[in-house]
Amino acid sequence: MSEDDELSLIPVKWIEEYHYCPRIIYFMGVLGLSERETALMVEGREAEEAEEERESRRSTLLAKRKEKVLGRWQRLRVCSTSLGLVGVIDLVVKTESGLKVIEIKNTGARRLSSGYLYQAVAYGMLAEEALKQPLRSVIIHHLKGGETFEVDVSDALRAHVKWTVKRIRSILSKAEMPKATRVKECWGCGYLKVCKRL
Ligand code: SF4
Repeated sequence: MSEDDELSLIPVKWIEEYHYCPRIIYFMGVLGLSERETALMVEGREAEEAEEERESRRSTLLAKRKEKVLGRWQRLRVCSTSLGLVGVIDLVVKTESGLKVIEIKNTGARRLSSGYLYQAVAYGMLAEEALKQPLRSVIIHHLKGGETFEVDVSDALRAHVKWTVKRIRSILSKAEMPKATRVKECWGCGYLKVCKRL
């Protein structure tokens, strides 16, 4: 893949950001801004990495399940011109029923957010293409709350990932700030100051 092709790909992380608030895509992709990493964010990232490391040494999924791990790939760099995405998958495992992407999130939330789900499905689609093996499901584990969500990857989920990529491309090409539709999310948003100024 040429450097130009690679530059035109969208980071998978932006799928999660889009579902948090589409305006963030405008700030990052059009204005070139990035969120300052706070001490709390660093702590969260380190906790996720430590858990991923532990998971990579286990012979069964998340140490609670009976399902055997037949193979695993850690920090797998993936990109696809057909999906228009690029990223690094923290952990993907092969089981008897197919590939499973595992995402560890340092949150105590009781419910699975749409951003986490669609980001994991996008990673799964990329893994499937790169490894040429069928994708079965995505597993999102909330580290602080202890909840684990396993979601089978359906055609509808795949279609929604593709729809999200189109929406992100549209924001980038129009270079217009999307309308603010979020209120609750603003208080946890790293772009709050700049957003309120514009
Ligand atoms: S402050 Fe609110 S409206 Fe602005 S980008 Fe963040 S979540 Fe979206």
